[in-house]
Amino acid sequence: MLADQQFLRIPGPSPIPPSVQLAMGKPMIGHRDQQAKSLIKQLSPKLKPIFGTEEDVIILTASGTAALEMAVVNTVAPGDEVLVLVTGAFGDRFVKICQAYGIKVHRLDTPWGEAINPQLVEAYIKQNPSLKGVFATYCETSTGVLNPVKELAAVVQQFSNALFIVDGVSCIGAVPVKMDAWGIDILVTGSQKAFMLPAGLAFVAASKRAWNRMESNSTPRFYLDLLRYRNSMQNDTTPFTPALSLLFGLEQVLRLFETEGMENVFTRHKLMMQMIREAFKAHHIELLTPEDAASPTVTAVKPTDFQVEALRQTLKKEFQLTIAGGQQQLKNQIFRIGHMGYCSPADVLQTISVIEVALVRIGKQLELGKGVEAAQRIYLS
Ligand SMILES: *Cc1c(COP(=O)(O)O)cnc(C)c1O
Repeated sequence: MLADQQFLRIPGPSPIPPSVQLAMGKPMIGHRDQQAKSLIKQLSPKLKPIFGTEEDVIILTASGTAALEMAVVNTVAPGDEVLVLVTGAFGDRFVKICQAYGIKVHRLDTPWGEAINPQLVEAYIKQNPSLKGVFATYCETSTGVLNPVKELAAVVQQFSNALFIVDGVSCIGAVPVKMDAWGIDILVTGSQKAFMLPAGLAFVAASKRAWNRMESNSTPRFYLDLLRYRNSMQNDTTPFTPALSLLFGLEQVLRLFETEGMENVFTRHKLMMQMIREAFKAHHIELLTPEDAASPTVTAVKPTDFQVEALRQTLKKEFQLTIAGGQQQLKNQIFRIGHMGYCSPADVLQTISVIEVALVRIGKQLELGKGVEAAQRIYLS
């Protein structure tokens, strides 16, 4: 085994393209220098189409959870009522953040592995007119579900005065989103998933409605005060020292997106999802999530006749290939394959092939190559 070879197939952190890795190695610059200003000035406009917004996209130096917390503390206050749509571990995280700030949380739970039903949300918000915010997860990373945020946004905008706040950490940059047109009030993502960077940056965009709400919201906040970031952005700077090396990397990531074309990026992710799903179907290994709710960035597999941990350990030990296990109630029940960012159909074929070998190693009866062949056929079709 090559000591420095690693195959990261988890839903974040994801692999870094070599050109991005190199860009991040550039010598440090002063964060108040003209060079830093020029960099910041050109990054934000290029993020807008990826979010589908005309509004500023704020760049925060922090992991994705800070952006979730930012969405909470800037828009709602202790004692306010909010609705959190929970489809897995990350919906649950929104609940915990809100509770930590003394916000009254209504939660609407969807069974793990399924997508939120907008009709149930409509009924719920009609009965609870005092909601100040509705929180949803676009891709629920713990189950591999892509929630119907376009439909959810329509329901929230039509039937309530609540802001619609979306965690897009594990899919923005890999799936289409039209924040302004759909009616999303706050959309956040992080750097270590579809953005092909290390953890350390988060991105937050807000609608006009949300900016207005923030101006009158009294929740104490300092580092996470979005208004502070907007003010700095008007001078092409940030309120605090940004992770400049990651910004160098981001500049290159945005070039890669531009070269491939975002539509092609989205198509590639969907294709990888279909290849993986067909591979497991060919082996009659169950998937957690139905096709119409499946995310193009992460796939959860729910085997019944082998141990998830045995598979993960064999993959790691023999091939240095890492896949993720299940979280919370799905621990030991599922494994998850990340296929986002710097991942291609060729990587997917390799991953499936290696998983087949590892399954034989742990004693599962299967026909070698059957999953690879199914994926190849999807690719060729
Ligand atoms: C990864 C992830 C986060 C953020 O996690 P951090 O570890 O704080 O970066 C938030 N939401 C979802 C859906 C995620 O997948």
